[in-house]
Amino acid sequence: MSLHQEETIVALATPAGIGAIGVIRLSGPEAISITNKVFYGKNLEAQDSHTIHFGTLRDGDFIIDEVLVSLFVAPKSYTKENVVEISCHGSDYIIASIIKLMIKNGARAAKAGEFTLRAFLNGGLDLSQAEAVADLIASSSKSAHQLALQQMRGGFSNELKNLREQLIHFASMIELELDFSEEDVEFANRDQLKQLILAINKVVSRLIQSFEMGNVIKNGVPVVIAGKPNVGKSTLLNVLLNEERAIVSDIAGTTRDTVEDEITLKGVRFRFIDTAGIRETADIIEAKGVERTFEKIKSSAIVLYLFDPRETSLTELKAIMDDLHQVIQENNSKLLLVANKTDETQVNNALTGFESLGEILNISAKEKYNIQLLEDELLKAANLSQINKDEVIVSNIRHLEALQKTEASLSRVLHGIDNPVTSDFLAMDIKQALYYLGEITGTVTTDDLLENIFSKFCIGK
Ligand code: GDP
Repeated sequence: MSLHQEETIVALATPAGIGAIGVIRLSGPEAISITNKVFYGKNLEAQDSHTIHFGTLRDGDFIIDEVLVSLFVAPKSYTKENVVEISCHGSDYIIASIIKLMIKNGARAAKAGEFTLRAFLNGGLDLSQAEAVADLIASSSKSAHQLALQQMRGGFSNELKNLREQLIHFASMIELELDFSEEDVEFANRDQLKQLILAINKVVSRLIQSFEMGNVIKNGVPVVIAGKPNVGKSTLLNVLLNEERAIVSDIAGTTRDTVEDEITLKGVRFRFIDTAGIRETADIIEAKGVERTFEKIKSSAIVLYLFDPRETSLTELKAIMDDLHQVIQENNSKLLLVANKTDETQVNNALTGFESLGEILNISAKEKYNIQLLEDELLKAANLSQINKDEVIVSNIRHLEALQKTEASLSRVLHGIDNPVTSDFLAMDIKQALYYLGEITGTVTTDDLLENIFSKFCIGK
């Protein structure tokens, strides 16, 4: 891949569409000089970094807009290159005209992610931070936002950097043993190495485990609404979804593309799965409906089982619960047992005896009774309150894979220590673990290794 960092790139940095202002960003060696060619105001090339200037942008004699230009002189910018941010009036026409003007004067349209790619290549961010920027932009709930922000600020990388440094130390010791192989020396104490590997393994496994939670934060908690036909599943789904939409549209002046079948409660995203299935259950015979339920449960973290006590006997529900509990336990998910239609008196009367099945939440989807309570129960079941803000959570599949490979190489190192293998095999496995850890942050392992050997062992030589 050719990176063409000598080229200056331009793109709209704010969302497309009409807004009070739009921000167009340029990055590259010519960012300031290209802007200066079409800017009427001060001479931008003579200004300090981190200053803002008012003026007009012109294509020949034609004034396109009055703008504010912010200057970031290399390397004091996001990409470490010269960066210009033009705040213009937020009309599609103005924005397109300015971008065209910049291209005419020597810039080129930026590709997706190119600003962040440059930040990475120029050392402003490591890979996991660069990925976190993408997550941050895409985050639509408070918890996803926090996760991305923490990762971007280096929480994730710092923990890994620490691990790698400790490993590099041992790798270099063992590398040294290879140089003295005829003398049968052991620079790397095998007991200490084993302790270190075990300690690292503990952190790596914790990071791997955190993925489940990271994934939930990023993609939403998968919830399935199950129950016999006509118990009110679609009514409930619509109530939950509409509440969310109503809240969103109540905020004056905001428009938002609500993702279908998702709601956000107190910053936690819930994703209702197989809602198409819910909507068409009316046609499905009961037995089949129950069967389908079990399939859906496998991919959900919370099962909301809805029933109408007039339509289900205690014995029948008990049998269903027994089956459900089995699947839920295997799947490590949670069950909420919910009686619907409690606005009807017969339903309330029919409920006696059911309490022996455990906690039952009484709601009326139609009358919106106890919906708030149901939402609180969903939040409780999601169990995200245990997230420690300072704790590193892995949410990226690429990181997970690298961590899993690290774990595998670490266990080979352990095996090598316990069943003594020659130093070169041990060195190879350690190098591999270092490589996979480095894959996450994008650091080059071999250079680190060489530098470390050099700094530690060329004493006076
Ligand atoms: P689904 O087949 O489980 O998705 O059930 P629906 O949501 O289609 O509802 C079936 C019928 O029950 C519809 O006529 C709803 O209006 C009605 N219904 C749903 N919830 C309630 C409720 O809380 N109270 C009453 N009285 N009727 C309800």
